[in-house]
Amino acid sequence: MGVKVGVLALQGDVSEHIDAFFAALSRRGCGSTATVTEVRSSQDLAGCAALAIPGGESTTISRLIEKNQLHEPIRNFPGGIFATCAGMVLVASRVDDPRIRPLGLVGMAVDRNAFGRQRESFEADIPVDGLPGQPFHAVFIRAPVATAIDDNVRVLARVEQGIVAVECGKHMALAFHPELGRDTRLHERFLQACGI
Ligand code: GLN
Repeated sequence: MGVKVGVLALQGDVSEHIDAFFAALSRRGCGSTATVTEVRSSQDLAGCAALAIPGGESTTISRLIEKNQLHEPIRNFPGGIFATCAGMVLVASRVDDPRIRPLGLVGMAVDRNAFGRQRESFEADIPVDGLPGQPFHAVFIRAPVATAIDDNVRVLARVEQGIVAVECGKHMALAFHPELGRDTRLHERFLQACGI
């Protein structure tokens, strides 16, 4: 059986991640055997080699993770996690909002909605460390930033306001939304780090 990639499907831009992972998997040559599946329970998570936590509303996703008893299964998940925007908030170890119970998978402090009202949403071409070719066209929507990182976390990109992309072992966390464009380089790099 081919590899299975899960997308946490409690709230947020789930279908965009599914499409982006299909495209990235086929570019990596395993499109015909791999599957991308929606994850709503620990049973769904079992057998996945990697999991995406999409953008959306992190307070809502956090509440639904608790409701669906997914906090411990995700914390103990052996595969890589690809966390975007609200997902970046959830995988952090420290979050500036007490309504969120962080998963603590990436040692970093994160501020939600860090760009303020004027720049709630914007797009920017940002260089990403180790990503060959042009800068990545990043779409930020009420995005967070990391304000501090532990020693084992590698910064991949930063903007004036703070750190917007990190890698930690097999995990990748991005403040922006790579699933909204056609550029799947970051999805592909994540899959590669997961051995997929
Ligand atoms: N501001 C949202 C949050 O912190 C994230 C926005 C997004 O995922 N686009 O929940």
